[in-house]
Amino acid sequence: MKRALVCGAGGFIGGHLVKKLKSEGYWVRGIDIKEHEFAPSAADDFQVLDLREEDNCIAALSLNGDTFDEVYQLAADMGGMGFIHSAECEIMHNSALINIHMTHNASKMGVPHYFFSSSVCVYRDMQPGEPEMTEAEAIPANPDNEYGWEKLYSERIAMAYERNRGMTVRIARFQNCYGPYGTWTGGREKAPAAICRKVAEAEDGGTIEVWGDGTAVRSYTYVDDMVDGIYLLMHSDMKGAVNIGCPQYVTVNELVATVAEVSGKSIEIKHIEGPVGVQSRNFSNDRIYTSGWRAKYYLKDGIAETYPWIEEQVKASE
Ligand code: NAD
Repeated sequence: MKRALVCGAGGFIGGHLVKKLKSEGYWVRGIDIKEHEFAPSAADDFQVLDLREEDNCIAALSLNGDTFDEVYQLAADMGGMGFIHSAECEIMHNSALINIHMTHNASKMGVPHYFFSSSVCVYRDMQPGEPEMTEAEAIPANPDNEYGWEKLYSERIAMAYERNRGMTVRIARFQNCYGPYGTWTGGREKAPAAICRKVAEAEDGGTIEVWGDGTAVRSYTYVDDMVDGIYLLMHSDMKGAVNIGCPQYVTVNELVATVAEVSGKSIEIKHIEGPVGVQSRNFSNDRIYTSGWRAKYYLKDGIAETYPWIEEQVKASE
């Protein structure tokens, strides 16, 4: 039986990844600084550890003198645009420390396969309709936020250990990911969850506030597709960073319209000032397609899975 370590297992994508690895027959240890907020972890062994501390990284990686077959590093100080723009020091300090210690000690302790979760935030701002960017075009770099710079740095740490210390490294650049069992309130939620919450809270015919003018373009990837992509990438021979994202691009206004349609409510939008991030992003998924991966969920399918769960959370919190 293969043994995997999932760092960030108490979080959204990490929690789903643990379930995926269990369904593939793995023994899984999950690590996080907190328990999963919305569901008990599916991990065989779940430990609460602060991975900014090197000793805790060593403890997480220790397996009675044996070595994990695979390590998935998803732990990060992380949130939506509001958080990313207000917590620059926390992101640069906390996530970099986690990645420095985890990569170094995984390599030192002989882990053969290491996965790092990067982000499409490593790319520069784009205009709608610009030709798709490939992974190599992230350099020369000009991310619009510190979160993207930390991810680029940590990608390079991982690749340096692959070149110099022989640990096989796989790096995914995730598009915006959404689905049930993710943060939906509190300031760290991302746009799809925030919009689902606002629509769930609104009356039929009501109005919700949306940051910016609603024209920013994004692609949203449903979490089941994302964890399938992570798994395929980890078991592929693809070196260097690989984009994983749904090829459907929508504006923020279209995201709201989709959520409203799924909810069955008529919703008006009031555009207000707020941190929007880049105007557009448009990436090539050609590399991940070579693994056979395709997004199975387009936005409406994924929102149909996500909205009812968030609506349930909203009702339970009232
Ligand atoms: P998340 O916040 O739900 O999960 C991250 C987890 O890391 C959290 O549970 C958090 O408690 C944990 N963590 C933070 N600091 C820690 C520490 N010091 N020690 C141990 N654990 C710690 O976020 P997510 O959406 O599941 O994202 C997972 C990974 O994917 C992150 O690295 C994120 O940057 C990346 N990513 C996510 C998206 C997205 O749209 N969700 C997009 C691009 C990249």
